[in-house]
Amino acid sequence: MGLPHAPRFAYYDGKSQPASSTSSFQTINPATNTPLADIHTTTHAAIDAAIASAQKAFPSWSSTPAIERARILQRAASLLRARNDDLAKVETDDTGKPFTETSTVDIVTGADVLEYFASLVASGGLNGETIQLRPDAWVYSTKNPLGVCAGIGAWNYPIQIALWKSAPCLAAGNTMVYKPSEFTPLHATLLAEIYTEAGVPPGVFNVVHGAGDVGAYLTTHPSIAKVSFTGQVSTGQKVAGSAAGGMKYVTMELGGKSACIILPDADISQAVDGAMMANFFSTGQVCTNGTRVFVPESLKAEFERVLLEKMQHVRAGDVMAPETNFGPLVSKVHWEKVNSYIRHGINVDKAKLLCGGPETPSWLANHSNPAYKEGFWVQPTVFTDCTDDMKIVQEEIFGPVMSILPYKTVEEVVQRANNTSVGLAAGVFTKDLNLAHQIIGQLEAGITWVNTWGESPAEMSVGGWKMSGVGVENGKKGLEAWVRNKSTLVEMAGEVPTVFAKL
Ligand code: NAD
Repeated sequence: MGLPHAPRFAYYDGKSQPASSTSSFQTINPATNTPLADIHTTTHAAIDAAIASAQKAFPSWSSTPAIERARILQRAASLLRARNDDLAKVETDDTGKPFTETSTVDIVTGADVLEYFASLVASGGLNGETIQLRPDAWVYSTKNPLGVCAGIGAWNYPIQIALWKSAPCLAAGNTMVYKPSEFTPLHATLLAEIYTEAGVPPGVFNVVHGAGDVGAYLTTHPSIAKVSFTGQVSTGQKVAGSAAGGMKYVTMELGGKSACIILPDADISQAVDGAMMANFFSTGQVCTNGTRVFVPESLKAEFERVLLEKMQHVRAGDVMAPETNFGPLVSKVHWEKVNSYIRHGINVDKAKLLCGGPETPSWLANHSNPAYKEGFWVQPTVFTDCTDDMKIVQEEIFGPVMSILPYKTVEEVVQRANNTSVGLAAGVFTKDLNLAHQIIGQLEAGITWVNTWGESPAEMSVGGWKMSGVGVENGKKGLEAWVRNKSTLVEMAGEVPTVFAKL
């Protein structure tokens, strides 16, 4: 019997290129551990061809008026919205995330960003500035596209990441070679086809497939002007290092270990809802997860009581069912990693297990689909009475594992929240908005929330501090990451300043 999804090949010159490779790998449905599609690894020769296609397309695409590029990209946004549920189904197959999530978040937030950047460039977002220096001299600057850019994606928000990179890249007049994660590659061809159908010329958006070696080939390729990367800190270090060799522009969207701070006056129910969003949405596979939940000692008992009550509302099960809000982890290797952290929390860190644990979730035994027993399911897990020195508190687990850290004073909690090498996100829950802003001002993180968690709209520039990254995506600043500046000084007085005048 054939696999549920068509094989995937490199995509360049406006179409899939079935002949590119003989070596292939399979992408797996993590809910059932069954193969979904054969993915053909792109050879170096075919990566060169994809880059050449992008180079060929660049002069024409970059000189197309921004308003025309915008019109094409708007059409792609409409196609994404029209096919939302079909695309969401593919993302659910590939990532295991429940359809309730992929159908309301993943494609929607990608299409929003495409619409946002198309609108931005159509309404002057690429304008430079004019500075009148003197009556007879002025400076003008222009924002110029970089050329052929590489996008390298992580597996947790596949099509969203592809759109957050390609939307500003293409809107600014660049062309792109995009490599999806080898764990979740299905969306890439579908997005490329949508761009082509919308009128994006051949070579403007291209796809290559494979693991880290394919990514590494892109980051060192002399014809790539910029690398926009989303992934782990350790991979980001390699990518930024090799990009530096060619003095390439980089945007680095990396991991975190974010602090979710509950203040003593917080509404407990709201704070628990926030902490749950910050730990269990997407089965905890969100870069901005607030996995260090700081709770005042005085509130801890009540916070835990309400949390345990609300944990009943985490519903794992059939990923397509309307009631399911918690899926499996993305892959076997990730499942093993998350479970080993849970075991470490119990056996070595000696954290107190409030709920969950490394055992197979009990509901799996009775599930109507026997294949689910083979999937990468875990229990949502909460540790309490955690301390800052525990490994589960220090390292990014990237799974549904919450650590509750009791604290005494606000000064102490700010210092402890910042005591980490990463600085992606942070947030506070409180009714005292003055205090909220004072604390936010002191937190070393690039994405912060007050009385909410996780929303990342197209208008909001997001990027990590410290080891969590370089640069931002989205918002007006997100466009600046895809252009380079040229400044021109114009002198009209006919006098060139010189020290070489005749005495
Ligand atoms: P990863 O670093 O393992 O892989 C990311 C991508 O890099 C994949 O496409 C992979 O094939 C590629 N890659 C691997 N080695 C490479 C190399 N040497 N050169 C070039 N490319 C290489 O990350 P992952 O496990 O796919 O994703 C999870 C991580 O991503 C987490 O740490 C998470 O926090 C982070 N993330 C960050 C953001 C953000 O916006 N800051 C968003 C989503 C995920």
